[in-house]
Amino acid sequence: MRVFDRLVIGLNNLSVKGRRARAARAQVMVLLPACLQAADCKQDVAGDVANCRRCGRCKIGPLLDLCDRLGVAADIVKGGRAAVQLARQENIKALVAVACEKELRSGIIACLPKPVIAVVNKRPNGPCNETDVAIEEVGEAIKRLTKAPG
Ligand code: SF4
Repeated sequence: MRVFDRLVIGLNNLSVKGRRARAARAQVMVLLPACLQAADCKQDVAGDVANCRRCGRCKIGPLLDLCDRLGVAADIVKGGRAAVQLARQENIKALVAVACEKELRSGIIACLPKPVIAVVNKRPNGPCNETDVAIEEVGEAIKRLTKAPG
């Protein structure tokens, strides 16, 4: 199934990039999974991203710094249903989503026709536990969705 999920994700990302989908920075949202959080961190970052102290013990802090720098909103979600609810907000026109293959595949389909660039997480500690992601890949996806035409 993971092969099929990766195929859907790859085709989706190619299509979004190929059609040069873009939106104003204020209309782009980055959705991050709560499993990126350090397991012993007590901050309720899924309740409010502002609760992250950006201490550097997990990737959430640097990812929030990146979103601030690039002028886009970020939210941290527990599960695909919460992510889709946020993604469907009318003022959000394009998304960068970080998750596992299965969540990304179902999220992409649930959000159609909104453009979503999907970034697959890394799971060095197994699923849903202190996951990781390549920050530069997220940054590249944000820039693709927000850069001016031309
Ligand atoms: S950067 Fe620090 S405060 Fe923020 S979620 Fe990670 S461990 Fe918690």
